[in-house]
Amino acid sequence: MLNVIIFLGSPGSGKGTQAAKLSSTFDYKHISIGDMLRDNVERKTDLGLKTSEFVDSGELVPDDLIIQVVGKFFEDFSSNKDDKVILDGFPRTEPQALALEKIINDLDITLTSVIFLNVQDDEVISRLSERGREDDSPELVLNRLNVYRDQTEPLLEYYKNKNILNEIDGNRLPELVFGEISELIGVEA
Ligand code: AMP
Repeated sequence: MLNVIIFLGSPGSGKGTQAAKLSSTFDYKHISIGDMLRDNVERKTDLGLKTSEFVDSGELVPDDLIIQVVGKFFEDFSSNKDDKVILDGFPRTEPQALALEKIINDLDITLTSVIFLNVQDDEVISRLSERGREDDSPELVLNRLNVYRDQTEPLLEYYKNKNILNEIDGNRLPELVFGEISELIGVEA
C-alpha cells in the first residue's frame, strides 16, 4: 500500500522546505512538481518547452499536462509497496484534485493526510523576496498569490469536507513547524 501526504499552502508557505526535511529525516519520497518542471525547463526537454512560459509568468501549467505527469509517476511508482510519498505542489486546482482522487481509487493508494501550511501574505512576500528564484520577483509573487487564491484555495474546503485537512500555523520558525508536522503524521522529530 502506497501512502500519500499532500502539502497545501501558498507560494512561500514552506511546503518545499518542510517536505524536503521530512524526506531527509524519515523515509518519504518528495515529489515537487515545481522542481520537476524547473528541471525539465533547464534540460530543455519536451515537457520543459511546453511549460516554461507558464512557470515564467507565475501562471499554472495546464491541468492536462500536469495530470499526465503525476499519473505517469504513480503508475511507475505504485508497485513499490509500503512506500510513502509527499506531494508538494499538487493538486493545485479542482480538476487536479479530482484526477488525483481517481488515481488513488484506481491504484492501491491511501491518502493519509492533507497538511495546510497557513502563512500570512506579508510573511510570504518577505520570505520570497529573500529566496530570489526567477519567479520570485515582486510582480510575479503577487500574481502567484492571486493564482493561489483563485485556483488552489478552494481545495481547502474540498479536503475539509473529506475530514482529512490538517491546518498548521506556518508563520513560525521552520523547526517548530517541522515538530508539529512530525507529531501530526505520527513520527518522532
Ligand atoms: P512551486 O515550485 O510549487 O512554487 O511551483 C512553481 C511553478 O510551477 C508554479 O508557479 C507553476 O507555474 C508551476 N506548477 C507547480 N505545480 C503546479 C501544478 N500542480 N499545476 C500547475 N502548475 C504547477
